[in-house]
Amino acid sequence: ESVVNRIAAGEVIQRPVSAVKELVENSLDASSTSISVLVKDGGLKLIQVSDDGHGIRYEDLPILCERHTTSKLSKYEDLQSIKSMGFRGEALASMTYVGHVTVTTITRGQLHGYRVSYRDGVMENEPKACAAVKGTQIVIENLFYNMVARRKTLQNSADDYTKIVDLLSRFAIHHIDVSFSCRKHGAARADVHSVATPSRLNAIRSVYGLSVAQNLIKIEASDNDPSSSVFEMDGFISNSNYVAKKTTMVLFINDRLVECTALKRALEVVYVATLPKASNLSFICQFTLPPEHVDVNVHPTKREVSLLIRKLLLRRYSLWLNRC
Ligand code: ADP
Ligand code: MG
Repeated sequence: ESVVNRIAAGEVIQRPVSAVKELVENSLDASSTSISVLVKDGGLKLIQVSDDGHGIRYEDLPILCERHTTSKLSKYEDLQSIKSMGFRGEALASMTYVGHVTVTTITRGQLHGYRVSYRDGVMENEPKACAAVKGTQIVIENLFYNMVARRKTLQNSADDYTKIVDLLSRFAIHHIDVSFSCRKHGAARADVHSVATPSRLNAIRSVYGLSVAQNLIKIEASDNDPSSSVFEMDGFISNSNYVAKKTTMVLFINDRLVECTALKRALEVVYVATLPKASNLSFICQFTLPPEHVDVNVHPTKREVSLLIRKLLLRRYSLWLNRC
């Protein structure tokens, strides 16, 4: 049974960056205004995510890392209108099967916090009272310690750290009311250091640098057809690519950081036409779509969403983008 759990967990948490994404999304779901990440050895030795969110209640600690423990969904119909990013109650549990998880947390109004460690879905010890300021800190040590082959394929720690920095950069330019930092253990300065700002352009400038912010073209579209549900898209496009070496897309659908190949293609078709010389474009886009058009429940990592009624919808999106 523990082998089965480990294999399943290894699918949810494929690389250190998948663990970071789940932890940061939990921090965002907890209404944090400041999230900092510390990484050692590309995340294999240590991933530490600290937030100032609402914390975890003492009585929830014993079951926190059991599979399908979530505080975010109460009935199946909620799946249709998921606002929070987590909903499966699978991430933390999975981490305990492939790493050593320690949670330190304090809820509002408490005099002290609690610290507790988990292994294979269960609490290792009674929560111990400890000093804590605000929010939650989750530490994952020795990720994939029990998956020799996985550890071997992940030996390039620089590569994994780059992925984590890229992830935090994406979160930072979308959730502009939250401060983010990401630092390598032992490093004097942070590689991502964003301060909450009301302006997305400011956020982009502080994360990707001035030259990127100067070359951005604002794109905005909305479908106000009263007979249909509301679509909205806004973001930036750059015809020279600074964000990465190939065409990049930072895509948020309904506040969820996702990959959506189909939508990416649709955007490219529309915008390559307007920027004919562009070979590798950068998009920073956020879409607000009717939740029922977006199936977030396809993959355990929730990263690639599939658009339901794909063809019809895509044609409509393309027409709509072309009109704008
Ligand atoms: P999910 O996010 O799908 O609910 P997770 O396994 O990611 O499942 O987390 C399990 C539960 O742990 C969450 O529902 C939430 O109640 C709690 N939790 C996890 N991380 C935090 C955090 N940083 N702050 C507050 N609560 C948290
Ligand atoms: Mg979660």
